[in-house]
Amino acid sequence: MIRAGLSRVLDLVYPGVCHLCGAGVPGGRCLCAGCADALSPVVPPFCSTCGQGYDGRVEGAFSCPNCRDQKFAFEFARPALFRSDGIMTLVHDLKYGRRLELARELADLAARSFEDPRLGEALEGRWPLVPVPLHRRRFHWRQFNQSLEIARPLGRRLGLPLAVALKRIRPTETQTRLSRAQRQKNLRGAFAVRRGVTGGEGAVLVDDVFTTGSTAHECARILRRAGFQKVIVVTVMRG
Ligand SMILES: [Zn+2]
Ligand SMILES: [Zn+2]
Repeated sequence: MIRAGLSRVLDLVYPGVCHLCGAGVPGGRCLCAGCADALSPVVPPFCSTCGQGYDGRVEGAFSCPNCRDQKFAFEFARPALFRSDGIMTLVHDLKYGRRLELARELADLAARSFEDPRLGEALEGRWPLVPVPLHRRRFHWRQFNQSLEIARPLGRRLGLPLAVALKRIRPTETQTRLSRAQRQKNLRGAFAVRRGVTGGEGAVLVDDVFTTGSTAHECARILRRAGFQKVIVVTVMRG
């Protein structure tokens, strides 16, 4: 009853239009079926390490040139979607337009990553979802952490616990213009585990976008050091 009431409240707050095309959608939703279908799900062939798509025929598992000579602290990253204008708009507007209602939609999209059989052990073992943290300063400016906002409904949907296990202890420069080596250096000492985190069989690190993997690597390294045996990365899209 509370949920039905809330849904009616949401209907009033959010007009029930598709965020991308303006078509009418059921209450509380912000993506129509047509626009959802137009996004590009990650389908083979894709890099088994980072989910980067590949044009052409490939037999079996392969790693893209970006990952081939990399040693990541995570097992692999599994974005749900390849890059497209539609998904970039949704992620961008959540983060910079503060459209928090988009987080649930993005969580539904991210849930598709778990159709990958390699995530079976995370589902069976009920591995916690760990959002990539935002530094306090950026958090104050933005008022929310998009990774946490996505991880929360994702966990509810999948029946996985949420563990806000990481914190950012040092602000970092924007990574976009840095080389890979500079990114790794920039991130050193940026994260720490929160008090009381004990580790376990595995953890699923959740973020909105996977780009070079530097942030995911550093977070995974800290989680592994805190006692998680395996870390798998799930993101909404491959940047
Ligand atoms: Zn639409
Ligand atoms: Zn790759």
